Amino acid sequence: MDNEASYICDTCGEDIVIPIDPTAGSTQEYIEDCPVCCHPCVIIVRLGDDGNADISASPEQDHL
Ligand SMILES: [Zn+2]
Repeated sequence: MDNEASYICDTCGEDIVIPIDPTAGSTQEYIEDCPVCCHPCVIIVRLGDDGNADISASPEQDHL
């Protein structure tokens, strides 16, 4: 397995590759600034038992 995964930026549509830290827990949520358009995205990472990472990204919400 590798420790990288990618998501599609909701703002600019670019495919963004980010490093995954498997020691940080099976579910991780954090804010990541898109390196292309600089808009912050809420990244939710879920690690499966097989080590595969499932990432969902959404624009940062005001209510957070
Ligand atoms: Zn972007």
